[in-house]
Amino acid sequence: MAGLFDEPTISYVQVAVERAVDRYPNGLTYGVPQSLAPIEVGQLVTVPLGRGNTPTDAWVLSTSDVRLDLGKNKETKQVFSKSAETVSLPQDLVSLASWMSSYYCAAIGPTLSTMLPGPVRKGTGLKTKTLVDIHTTPPTDVKITKKQQHVLNCIGDLPKNDLPIVISQLMKISSLGSRGPIDKLCHFGFLSTHQVTNIEATWFKQTIDNKEAPTLTNDQNKVLAAITPTLKKGYSCHLLHGVTGSGKTEIYIRLIDEAIKKGGKAIVLVPEISLTPQTAARLMGRFPHKQVAILHSALTKAQRHQQWAMVASGEADIILGARSAIFGPIPIEELKIIIVDEEHDHSYKQDQTPRYHGRDVAIRRASTAKCPIVLGSATPSMESWWNATRRNISTLHTLPQRAPGLTSPAIEIVNMKIARAAAKGVMPVFSKELESEIQRALASGGQILLLLNRRGFAPWIACSNRGCDWMMRCEHCESSMVYHRRKPLEEVGFVRCHHCAKEQRVPKSCPDCSKPVIRLGAGTQRLEAIIRETIPIPDDQIARLDTDTARKSSDLHSILDRFTRGKIRVLLGTQMIAKGLDVAGVTLVGVIDADTAIDLPDFRASERTYQLVAQVCGRCGRGTGNAKAIVQTYNPEAPAIVLASQNKYEEFANRELELRQETGLPPTRRMVRFVVRDDEFAITAGRADSLYERLLSIATPAIQITAAAPCVLTRIADRYRFDLTASASTASELQLFIADARSRQYITNNRDLAIDVDPISML
Ligand code: ADP
Ligand code: ZN
Ligand code: ZN
Repeated sequence: MAGLFDEPTISYVQVAVERAVDRYPNGLTYGVPQSLAPIEVGQLVTVPLGRGNTPTDAWVLSTSDVRLDLGKNKETKQVFSKSAETVSLPQDLVSLASWMSSYYCAAIGPTLSTMLPGPVRKGTGLKTKTLVDIHTTPPTDVKITKKQQHVLNCIGDLPKNDLPIVISQLMKISSLGSRGPIDKLCHFGFLSTHQVTNIEATWFKQTIDNKEAPTLTNDQNKVLAAITPTLKKGYSCHLLHGVTGSGKTEIYIRLIDEAIKKGGKAIVLVPEISLTPQTAARLMGRFPHKQVAILHSALTKAQRHQQWAMVASGEADIILGARSAIFGPIPIEELKIIIVDEEHDHSYKQDQTPRYHGRDVAIRRASTAKCPIVLGSATPSMESWWNATRRNISTLHTLPQRAPGLTSPAIEIVNMKIARAAAKGVMPVFSKELESEIQRALASGGQILLLLNRRGFAPWIACSNRGCDWMMRCEHCESSMVYHRRKPLEEVGFVRCHHCAKEQRVPKSCPDCSKPVIRLGAGTQRLEAIIRETIPIPDDQIARLDTDTARKSSDLHSILDRFTRGKIRVLLGTQMIAKGLDVAGVTLVGVIDADTAIDLPDFRASERTYQLVAQVCGRCGRGTGNAKAIVQTYNPEAPAIVLASQNKYEEFANRELELRQETGLPPTRRMVRFVVRDDEFAITAGRADSLYERLLSIATPAIQITAAAPCVLTRIADRYRFDLTASASTASELQLFIADARSRQYITNNRDLAIDVDPISML
């Protein structure tokens, strides 16, 4: 080792390697040489790893004066270098990461990296400039050239406030072609230079909503009167259940205002910020003298870096962003309130390791920051409803009415079995009822939203021969191939797998019986084609919104913007259109197929269906005049659909919770799901079975384990999948079990095993 580390070690750090092996629960110890001291918790450092001392990035978890671990014989290696101070996380986020790492069973290094946006980590947008100033004690006896004297005169003529000056600027005003003369003057001691690093990003455009604060309704006043006093009382959790358009955002704004008046700061989470530019516009409009940092994917990398740095430097009063904005580096003592809007939304859950839930991490952060957290939704998750109404660990507040000026849409369920019979067995896309409502809405100048939660043109390619059951399947996944047209009105197309994204050509005829193939069912593309062909309005007044049309966030913004301004009269799309749209002109919402979620083999199918129907129907009735929603379904008696159309959330939720309790499912029990993945079916099955045996061998009576079985999606991208779950009646019992299994190395999160604590999808 000599030569590599020849300075004495003066203290120690425990670090977590960034891309690492899961060294649970402790980090690795390294020595700190004098020249690098002090190294702080939360800094990113480079350490030698392994026999080859490969330079590796690592996060500092803790520091100590003495060596804490007892690997007596091993010499402690030293930290190689530390990165810029700008790349560092405050102590409380490091603690939050270690909690996440143990709760979600993820390696701590990658968890810490998740907290820092990529552009910050990589220093994107950072520009270093050289600044020149006049030296405080210039030499008296040095001879200089005319050119050099000219430079000195130029800089000497500048007003004091303009100094120091950027070197390129000085070259310009003294007409220099190179920096040679300036360097000479520095060398002689007439001038001095230093370097500064700044983030250079153009400020992003954000529309601002200047609507004035409304007079609160009695219901809003009641909710505020209940929550506001808790701003002074440490941690508390509130569930704000308010129907769509009931003025929840107004409540958030008033609470944030109170928190800021007390010198505090706020974090506001929304499921997907690029879908709700309105929230940003409203916050900026209502807090014109405060800094709102916005963290979302529509920003350039440099802008994201800039926004994050604004938070880190303490300038931002409000952070608004999606899931990961909960890691905004606000000093913990300044964080006074956290808002989680649309808390039921599944995009709060990250589907790769660390598989954390933004809402639950937010609750954890609020409890360490000792501040209130408000979870808001028109359709709360069963988890939050359970916590508020059965466990009493959060307080329920209700806004049962829409805000003044908004109307409640009349919701009508249309039984598609009847429509199908009338169409002689063919599944029609539109029922007569929806068709005539569309005509009516168009005639009266209204805007229309149509939801179909399925992308592509046709979800199935099958054989036209009734006796043959061939259907086109992905070669790599256990799923059917989806037909896409290149353009909605052109007959050219291809098929794509929605799980592995592989594309193929459409076969002309059935490989089994040579009969022609047909395309079955309808996705958003077919819906668009039908509308363009049948509705007599100009082409540019129709638009489709799904992940195929809105690949870039600029596409998304332009569609949403045109819709908001009334330029688009018919907007159709997937669940993207169910979120956050607040457009007064919408008088008709049509749900083309309310059953896309109800048939999923997932215990949350009903919950999802309720949420989707209630949320999308809530997008109309925001202006004056009548509003209508039509829900087409083949399950007209399904409670989720009936109750959503009657706006009976409580009845639905209580009933759903009873079912979950009877069947021992979350949230009434806590669950962890293990997905075993491998290249061959038999090997996967074998590994899953042996995991089951091992887990069973250490399970206490509090733990229930289900036997391993093939997943609903048995194979994705050539990998077979088996799953099993473990559950307990409390999170702490389940956590003890997970920790035990993890310390015995029965489980680690990796390519072959996904550990999902509190899973939200069972597919
Ligand atoms: P939510 O967040 O529950 O969907 P919002 O806060 O967005 O509801 O309110 C819906 C609409 O009603 C917004 O345009 C908002 O400005 C308006 N609004 C909210 N509260 C009031 C009120 N007390 N009086 C009048 N309009 C209100
Ligand atoms: Zn596939
Ligand atoms: Zn066939």
